[in-house]
Amino acid sequence: MLDDAGLRALREAARLSPENLPLRQHLAGQLLAMGYLAEAEAEYRAALVLAPKNADITAGLAEAFVRQSAYGAALAALEPLLASPGYPPKLGVLAARALLAEGDTARAAHRYHDAVSRDPSVGDADLAARLSAPPVPASPYPAPAPAPAYPAAGSPPPDGAEVERAGFSFADVAGMEAVKEALRIKLLLPLQQPELFAAYGKRAGGGVLLYGPPGAGKTHLARAAAGELGAAFVNVGLADILDMYIGSSERNLRATFEMARRNRPCVLFFDEVDALAARRSDMRQAHTRQLVNQFLAELDGVDQKANEGVLVLAATNAPWYVDVAFRRPGRLDQPVFVPPPDAAARAAILRILCRDKPLAEMDFDAVARATEHCVGADLKGVVDRAVEAKLQQSIRAGRPIPLSTPDLLAAAQTVRPTAVREWMSTARNYVMHANDSGAWDELMPWVKRKW
Ligand code: ADP
Repeated sequence: MLDDAGLRALREAARLSPENLPLRQHLAGQLLAMGYLAEAEAEYRAALVLAPKNADITAGLAEAFVRQSAYGAALAALEPLLASPGYPPKLGVLAARALLAEGDTARAAHRYHDAVSRDPSVGDADLAARLSAPPVPASPYPAPAPAPAYPAAGSPPPDGAEVERAGFSFADVAGMEAVKEALRIKLLLPLQQPELFAAYGKRAGGGVLLYGPPGAGKTHLARAAAGELGAAFVNVGLADILDMYIGSSERNLRATFEMARRNRPCVLFFDEVDALAARRSDMRQAHTRQLVNQFLAELDGVDQKANEGVLVLAATNAPWYVDVAFRRPGRLDQPVFVPPPDAAARAAILRILCRDKPLAEMDFDAVARATEHCVGADLKGVVDRAVEAKLQQSIRAGRPIPLSTPDLLAAAQTVRPTAVREWMSTARNYVMHANDSGAWDELMPWVKRKW
């Protein structure tokens, strides 16, 4: 590494030949190594203007961002290169670091493993250790019952299902007070105070069906519930299970439940649970029925204690497709509506989404007013877009410019939140015309509004 005099000389040389790319890159690398992060960032940005899409410079810039805790900016810088299938593996490792820091362990692990499988030399032992779930503390729950002969014991879990540790809790879910309270009472308290519930003949376990428009935060909420409880989190897309070739879906489902039981306390999250029913009309009807039965058998558990400490959360955008058998007592018998956020909740979501970004003084209420009918996913899109624009502006200016209210307002103009309106109109049909059992009464006030 250079000494101060060497660094001064290098700076001076770069100043005299600003178009000399290798020189600027060398200076940026030295600054990064010496910990002058803001200056390194500025040098890399300037170098990137000379050589856009240069992988080494992008990596340096992303590294400077990550070391300054600007994870969103790092990901935004990496994104254009990561989008191509042959991206340089070291960029994947950097993205993994940023994603992990943002709490997105699943995507971080995916990025990391993909990168290392292509080039083992980019491996980072420390990062790999942080990506693998920490050991589960001694469990107060009974060991899982041995698996019956069929399906085969030790079957691999379905693709994509991994044990995660959520890095956040209900405090990171903005608004939704009624929904959080419902989950606390239905799921968390029985698990936190099993003796009290046992005294009334109630067991911890069982399930909740979260439903609502896409992007309203069902997955986010399920992850937060796991974090709130210090429980493991297993996320399964039912469509993935269904897409396995016929005959092995049941095995995958069993393996997934077994994985959750081994990691109790655990929140087992099934997204798109309506996929099971949506396939009813297709050629594989008999197979789907078998799979539904298997799912119900797993939910019921082989014995009283099988699912103790396993909380099943299922989510759907189309609750009316979900088999009524799922909603029998002890199964997913507790539907909870996850509504689109109102203005106060939108402001709170925006505040959470922006909290790790460099900010000017913000008027989140104004942005909330300008994003009517937006759900959490739309708001995330608004913030991502504003950050990207700001980043480009900053690159041009050669210095970081904080995100401001007008940036968010400008980005908000470009989103078209159609999902909620469409969802409400479908929901209205079911609530008005197919609500004999009163299952959708909770939606009545919502669908009556103008969307
Ligand atoms: P769904 O599962 O209902 O389709 P998601 O949970 O995937 O929706 O939400 C999309 C994204 O929106 C989340 O990753 C999160 O960043 C953001 N989000 C949604 N709701 C909230 C909320 N209440 N508080 C904070 N962020 C939220």
